[in-house]
Amino acid sequence: MSLKNVEKSFVQELQVLYPENEAQQIWYLAVAHLTGFDLRACEGRQFNPDPCMLKMLSDIRKRLLKAEPIQYILNEAWFYDIPFFVNKQVLIPRPETEELVDAVIQEHKTRPSVRILDIGTGSGCIPVILKRKLPDATVTSCDISAEALAVARKNAAKYQQDIHFMQLDFLEETNWPQLPQVDVLVSNPPYIPVADQTSMHKNVTDYEPALALFVPDEDPLLFYRKIAGAASAVLAPGGRIYLEVHENLAEETRQLLETKGFTAVIKTDMQGKQRFVLAGFANS
Ligand code: GLN
Repeated sequence: MSLKNVEKSFVQELQVLYPENEAQQIWYLAVAHLTGFDLRACEGRQFNPDPCMLKMLSDIRKRLLKAEPIQYILNEAWFYDIPFFVNKQVLIPRPETEELVDAVIQEHKTRPSVRILDIGTGSGCIPVILKRKLPDATVTSCDISAEALAVARKNAAKYQQDIHFMQLDFLEETNWPQLPQVDVLVSNPPYIPVADQTSMHKNVTDYEPALALFVPDEDPLLFYRKIAGAASAVLAPGGRIYLEVHENLAEETRQLLETKGFTAVIKTDMQGKQRFVLAGFANS
């Protein structure tokens, strides 16, 4: 069987779960991973798959049809410009978060020795990219999950980035004294109210860690309130805060930060959604 025919039925079958362009992209990710070819080189490339590769593609297809994300099947997710190891213990890094990281990089290119704290690091995608792009920065990351930290450490080691990881429950204020003094606080915390679950895709709700996604319906700004509280203690004068937020709660998050003594602005993402709140001390 030619690869073109396998591709056709694979992409067609996947369309019960994904729009055609996403199904096609998943195919390319799978083939690029299995062959080691560059993603772009797989598009339009023709070769005869051996039986072993056909078997692997068929196994991948079976798992995909159960709505398992391709990133967990391949244990790989691209973020910024490199592939990260991922498993079901960590959120799959999203393109929006690349923009969050980019905002930190752009504003600190001329201040290389900046000290950064990433709260809720998951796969470690944020600190690894920040340390690669700002090599003189001191980067600390915390997460409550030991399993997530194992993944983050693996990614830091993969790219030989010296990052200080801490396992700690950030919501517990008595843990804040353990945190270092920093110039930048960055976080993509859980921000989806539990009630939103019903309208979400199965590939997220059935597979991604609830701990990384959800907040109580009655307190959706929980993490932002705590971040603002911790910031008063750990952020150095002139320090900055970079947050990814729920698109429907951006204004509330901005106001929350303002009431805690920060000036805060909303920034939209590539899709025009209100996705980030950037803040600094009101008096600096
Ligand atoms: N910081 C990680 C990311 O942006 C994890 C975020 C999370 O688990 N909420 O992907």
